[in-house]
Amino acid sequence: MTASAALAVNCVCFACNMRFGMGGLGKSTIHIKSAGGVERGFVVVVCRACKDPAPCARVCPVDALESRKGYGVTLDKDKCIGCGRCVEACPIGAVFWDAENNKPEICVYCGICAKYCPYDVIELEEMKTGSEVS
Ligand code: SF4
Ligand code: SF4
Repeated sequence: MTASAALAVNCVCFACNMRFGMGGLGKSTIHIKSAGGVERGFVVVVCRACKDPAPCARVCPVDALESRKGYGVTLDKDKCIGCGRCVEACPIGAVFWDAENNKPEICVYCGICAKYCPYDVIELEEMKTGSEVS
């Protein structure tokens, strides 16, 4: 990924937050991290919509996270007790934490990041069978 692409991903982090009508990155469910040095660039961290049963949903003790039909998960924040197990269970670190409310932030697969990205770094695909991340 080039430097401009990295900037674009920063843009989509902000775009994600705007779905709540907010600025900043506080509620964003897409982040970037260094791939390990300037030459290696950056990686996008965003939910990959695991196949049922998703690792994050599997560990939730109160069924606040549930696998969606076929792929991905939904979060019922009213049920969530803020234990943080889902954060540890996601193999790619795509469960982010809302420290203000002590609850996870989970991607809702709205696709606003993909629409906003001027460099086509991200794409939202309809999945027929789901995918497993490892
Ligand atoms: S385990 Fe991670 S990548 Fe898989 S559905 Fe849950 S949040 Fe998304
Ligand atoms: S933090 Fe909430 S959603 Fe995550 S495992 Fe604990 S109760 Fe479930």
